[in-house]
Amino acid sequence: MATPERYAKIRRVLSGRQPTLTVLMDEVNKPHNFSAILRTCDAVGVMRAHAVPPRLGNGRGQLPTYGATSGSADKWVEVQTHQDAVAAVRSLQARGFQVLATHLSEQSVDYRSPDYTKPTCVLLGAEKFGVSGEAAAAADANIVIPMLGMVQSLNVSVAAATILFEAQRQRLSAGMYARPQLGEEALERLAFEWAYP
Ligand code: SAM
Repeated sequence: MATPERYAKIRRVLSGRQPTLTVLMDEVNKPHNFSAILRTCDAVGVMRAHAVPPRLGNGRGQLPTYGATSGSADKWVEVQTHQDAVAAVRSLQARGFQVLATHLSEQSVDYRSPDYTKPTCVLLGAEKFGVSGEAAAAADANIVIPMLGMVQSLNVSVAAATILFEAQRQRLSAGMYARPQLGEEALERLAFEWAYP
């Protein structure tokens, strides 16, 4: 039984959810990274994340979640599975999302320059191999967090948090957390599902 306070918190969180902000994790295979990214997604209001599971033999394995790092964020952020990163990029673009691939290329721009108030998906790469050339080419832009030290890249969950909080900053300034993006019917249905799982 959810207390009135708990129900009010659920409604408040759902009122700030951003169905127009998401991530696509391309073969992120370490459970602690996958779960940490979901936890950041919850913190910035992502409703549904997308993921291509790591390869296993000729097919795909399971999504690498576990609760210890996510703080149970996987309860509050749905994950949609895709079998192929390029097809997932195209399907998100067909639904109106700009896809920003975290990838170093000649066309890469600083991660702070895109307009994150537009429907946006941040494409994140595998720990070992990064975003594939094909998926980066299919994206609308390539973005990078400037690296001024000796190492070439950040941990993927750190990169995800850096970029998603820039998206949150821009969306807060635009007042996008102050007006619910979910319709009242969807909000009430989800509030009921979250309160009485
Ligand atoms: N060897 C890989 C490569 O060449 O791309 C390194 C992958 S990095 C450890 C894992 C993922 O973290 C990247 O695919 C990207 O999603 C993200 N990432 C790490 N550093 C980044 C940076 N400086 N800018 C943007 N994304 C970054």
